[in-house]
Order: sequence, then structure tokens, then C-alpha cells
Amino acid sequence: MTAGRHITRRPAPARPVRTLVPTDPAIIRVSLPASTAADRSYDVAVGRGLLGSLGKMLRDAGCRRTLVVSDAAVSGTHAKRAAAAVEAVGIDVDAVEIPRGETSKSVPQLERLWEEMARLAIDRHTHVIGVGGGVVGDLAGFAAATFNRGLPVWHVPTTLVAQVDSAIGGKTGINLAGGKNLAGSFWQPRGVLCDVETLATLPDREFRSGLAEVVKYGMILDAPFFAWLEANATAVAAREPASLEHVVHRSATLKAGVVTQDEREVTGLRAILNYGHTFAHAYETAAGYGALLHGEAVAIGMTDAAELAVARGRIDRETADRQRNLLVSFGLPVDVPPSARQPIDRLIDIMGRDKKSVAGRLRFILPSRIGHVDLVDDVPTSDVRDVLAR
Ligand code: NAD
Repeated sequence: MTAGRHITRRPAPARPVRTLVPTDPAIIRVSLPASTAADRSYDVAVGRGLLGSLGKMLRDAGCRRTLVVSDAAVSGTHAKRAAAAVEAVGIDVDAVEIPRGETSKSVPQLERLWEEMARLAIDRHTHVIGVGGGVVGDLAGFAAATFNRGLPVWHVPTTLVAQVDSAIGGKTGINLAGGKNLAGSFWQPRGVLCDVETLATLPDREFRSGLAEVVKYGMILDAPFFAWLEANATAVAAREPASLEHVVHRSATLKAGVVTQDEREVTGLRAILNYGHTFAHAYETAAGYGALLHGEAVAIGMTDAAELAVARGRIDRETADRQRNLLVSFGLPVDVPPSARQPIDRLIDIMGRDKKSVAGRLRFILPSRIGHVDLVDDVPTSDVRDVLAR
């Protein structure tokens, strides 16, 4: 697919959804305060072979017209099935394809999407459905939040990162030259449908990248889940369906719980989701988006954060090693590869601009044990430098 090309088409009829072992979806409720106009709470459905039920979900929500946004990796497969399921219940479908990759979270791609929506005469009653990974979700979500002053959006995440993280919580946005996710909005979806069968086509490196976020949930919130991951690492890494369902369900439940309690990152609770991310964002910004996958950067960042916690006397070596070993058993990097190494001064400078830092003072989410983290703001820069130099 040519980068930068948009394709708008009526989807061709898809083959019936292939479901090896259909499961009833487990429903996770994201409870949010109602706005003046509407109840903003929504469900996250997790299961196998769920794409076929998307039409019913939308029909039940009173939807009559949709715009499916996807990228080239899924437009002919999962997005086609999703569109077919929606058309099968008599809902109109238009489809737009964006180029693959992080560079699609950009002003030019957002503008193309807006223009495409204008050309299709998308109105306020059209529901946007983002089918794809975090890139599709963040871009489609931001376009939905802003076009015509806001359209309903549904997420059908097809990467592990998106199923356990980006599709839940309503953060949308694009990258600017000055930083990642700098322009965006909170725009909660009407619903999220996590069909773990869609993960079967995910390249290995992308799948492993998502496991970094899964390990993160165990570290920040759930010691028993962390121990379950340690005990079931082989089955999880092999994408054994029942294990995968548990991983997505537990992670999505934890994310939904945080979002319910701190939707807009004001109480500080939602900030714990950024465990490892101050380091990760610095690596991603310094090395250029795409040099490391987001989850890879997070895995290295969590290892940095654990090392910082050891240096500050917050956790012992054994705890840091448990996290490191779990990441390694999932095939994730725990050190910056030589190709992505950057000068320490540059990394420190980028971290100083992190939204958690106050008046240039670095603040980090650090563990005190497996299953618990705190926001720590008395970290000397010298300790951070030592960690970056490890
Ligand atoms: P991605 O969307 O780029 O997907 C990774 C790759 O997998 C892409 O090449 C994509 O085309 C391909 N792909 C997607 N589904 C597939 C499938 N089922 N089979 C085969 N290939 C498939 O990246 P991602 O890792 O899903 O998400 C990363 C993005 O999410 C980053 O931009 C990050 O900033 C964002 N993010 C947002 C939030 C949030 O709260 N909004 C949270 C975490 C991450």
C-alpha cells in the first residue's frame, strides 16, 4: 500500500467470521460520570470470535451510518469482517484506510482524514469505528472528537497494546515535531470490542511489544496477576487462546478501573499507568519514532525505573530481577540496543519536558513492591544519569 494514500470504498462481502472456539464475551464496565447530554459509561467486551457481534452492538446503540477507519495491515481482514458484520444488520458503511505506522499520527494524516470525512459528507450521526492498533485508534479517535464538533467513536483494537491499553480510557491524539501525543483530546468511545482472535495475525515483535504493558499492570497494581504471568509465561508467549483471553481481560479490567477513578489524570492515579514511560518517551523522542516499538521502549523504561527504585532503596534486587526476568521471558529488551543509544544529556533534557516534571524537577513512577507504585519527586538527576549509563 502506498504511504499516504487513502482508499475509500464500500467493503466487499467478507467471508463468515471464522471462530475456532466461540466464547461469550466478558463485559468490563467503564463507569464515568454523565455529561449534561448523555451517559458516558461504556462496555469493553473481551472474548474470541466477537467481530461478528459488532453489528448488533451498533444497532442496539441506534447507529445507522458508520465510517470504518483502519490501516493496510487489517483493512482486508479484520476491518472487512467488522464492516461486513455492521452491514449485515442494515447499517451503512464507508471505509477509509490510513498508512501503517506511527507516522500516521500526524497533522497531514489527520487533515487527510478530516477532508475524507468532509468529502463523504459524514454527519454528526455517523459513528466512527477504529479497527486496528493504537495508531488507528488514536488518529480515528481524535478525528472523531474534532470533526463536526464530535462524532461517536467505537474501538475495535487488533493489537495487544490497543486491547489492553490504548482503546480504553478515551485518550486520543497525534504527534508533533516537539513531542509524542502533544495534540489530542479526551474522547471516550461508545464501546470497545476486544476480539483476541484478531491477535493471531499480529507479527511476533508487535505481540511481544504489547506484553510490556501487560507486565506493567502486574507491577503497578496486581501482584497475583504478575505471579500468574510468571507461571504462565510460556502459554502467554505462545498466544494460547485461553491465556490470551485472561491476559486481555485482566489488563483491560485494571485499565478500566484506573480510568473510572481518574478519567482526566487529575487525582494522580491515572499517572501510575505511565510507569516506565518517562524513560520510554525520552528514548522514542530521541531515537525518532519507530526506532523502538512503543512496548519495547516501555520494557526498557520499566527496567530503568526498577533500577532507579533499587538505587533509591525502594525495592530490593530480587524484585527488580523478577520484573527483568519476566520481560526477558517475553522476548522483550531490557537494555537500549546500540542502534538506539542517545547522549544522556539529550535524554535528561527530554525528560525535563515530560508532563510529570514540575519546574524542571524530574518525577518518576517507581515501585515499592510488585503490585504497587508511587509518584516520586525527590529523585536526584545524578541517580537518573547512573541508570541511563547502565
Ligand atoms: P500500531 O497501531 O502501529 O500497530 C502495530 C503494527 O501492527 C502496525 O504495523 C499495524 O499495521 C499492525 N497491525 C495492527 N493489528 C494487526 C493485526 N491484527 N495483524 C497484523 N498486523 C496488525 O501500534 P500499537 O502498538 O497498537 O499502538 C501504539 C500506539 O498507541 C502509539 O502511537 C502509542 O502512543 C499509542 N498509545 C495510545 C494510548 C492511549 O491511551 N490512547 C495508550 C498506549 C499507546
